[in-house]
Amino acid sequence: MGPPGAGKGTQARFIADHFGIPAISTGDIFRANVSEGTPLGVEAKRYMDAGEYVPDEITNRMVRNRIDEPDAAHGFLLDGYPRTVAQVEELDGMINFTGHQLDAVLCLVVDKDEVVKRLLQRAQTEGRADDTEDVIRRRQEVYLEQTSPLIEVYKERGLLVEVDGLGDVDEVTKRIFDALDVVPES
Ligand code: AMP
Repeated sequence: MGPPGAGKGTQARFIADHFGIPAISTGDIFRANVSEGTPLGVEAKRYMDAGEYVPDEITNRMVRNRIDEPDAAHGFLLDGYPRTVAQVEELDGMINFTGHQLDAVLCLVVDKDEVVKRLLQRAQTEGRADDTEDVIRRRQEVYLEQTSPLIEVYKERGLLVEVDGLGDVDEVTKRIFDALDVVPES
């Protein structure tokens, strides 16, 4: 977890590589569908371009299908999911069904102005459709309204691991591995 621009995608790949599990990014799956022009992509794009969340029903169904894939049988890392209370409940049901359990919920803690700055920089290099200033601000608001309450939910369950997300990518990775009690391969 962490607001847009916190570095979730970058760090997710390092963690997933370490554990030999897939990093499942709902944002990436949506973007792939958008570029392939699938019906899911056409539907999702309307919300993404406005900085809003794709409706839970669509997102949940997509995640359920993805974690059903053979490569996720021995575990997976979710990047950008769950993002709403309804998704938390749905995820509980899904992993209960598949026999998995949540080991940890990692939250990257970052300063709001800093992430907006990062996203504006990313807009110049990657040119994502949802990286315009208005949309960036809306995405931060949506995160605050709909996703930040989830931090408390996972804290109460004793699963929350909060890590300072500011600094070099390598530094943040090290903090994450320390917090998760992981010894990285050199
Ligand atoms: P991300 O790359 O994770 O920032 O996601 C990009 C966009 O995809 C978000 O702004 C949402 O429109 C959509 N999205 C990604 N994950 C979710 C989710 N769990 N629930 C709803 N919408 C999502």
